[in-house]
Amino acid sequence: MLAHWPDVQPYLDAIEDFPVMTLARYAHHTMTVPAGEALAFVGDSAHSASPQLGQGANMALLDAGALHLALRDHPTDLSRALAHYAKLRRGHVRLYQALSAMFTLFYQSDSRVLPLIRDLFVSALAKVPPAPQLLAAIVAGALLSPIKTLELEKPPGV
Ligand SMILES: Cc1cc2nc3c(=O)[nH]c(=O)nc-3n(C[C@H](O)[C@H](O)[C@H](O)COP(=O)(O)OP(=O)(O)OC[C@H]3O[C@@H](n4cnc5c(N)ncnc54)[C@H](O)[C@@H]3O)c2cc1C
Repeated sequence: MLAHWPDVQPYLDAIEDFPVMTLARYAHHTMTVPAGEALAFVGDSAHSASPQLGQGANMALLDAGALHLALRDHPTDLSRALAHYAKLRRGHVRLYQALSAMFTLFYQSDSRVLPLIRDLFVSALAKVPPAPQLLAAIVAGALLSPIKTLELEKPPGV
């Protein structure tokens, strides 16, 4: 690290021993309905996961897009708007929560067997069509076409 970024020296000096470090822990949680009375939950407050798929920030932005759409379509009925918001995001959130939970076992569990399977087979399988396209869609957050569902515009060239 010092070779890449010498300014980090004082922070490294503060780490005297392993126990002074705070270990990251991830928790999966998914709210059944990400809304209450006049209250909407977006992002990690509605659904948190380990960061295997790198989709947490995107999911939060999609939630915000869905909430915008729901409020636009039900401007005078807040409870209907919130129910609509929950419905718009349900399938995509559940799919990604399930995929993230599944990938966590391979990437960050205490298992000795699963990482072995990952190292030996996944890289080989990932090259066999349609796996490359499927994996690209998973890590782009594109499964179930959330952009189309939420009437968002794709950036040019995507
Ligand atoms: C190690 C790690 C790596 C990750 N890598 C990626 C990645 O590569 N790509 C990706 O898309 N996502 C990644 N994520 C996930 C991503 O960071 C989160 O999903 C995303 O930040 C969720 O956004 P959010 O706005 O819902 O919550 P947060 O970003 O947690 O924002 C919540 C904010 O609320 C504030 N807050 C909390 N309580 C209160 C209070 N009582 N009053 C006022 N403010 C309060 C907090 O200080 C915080 O600023 C990663 C997460 C981790 C932990």
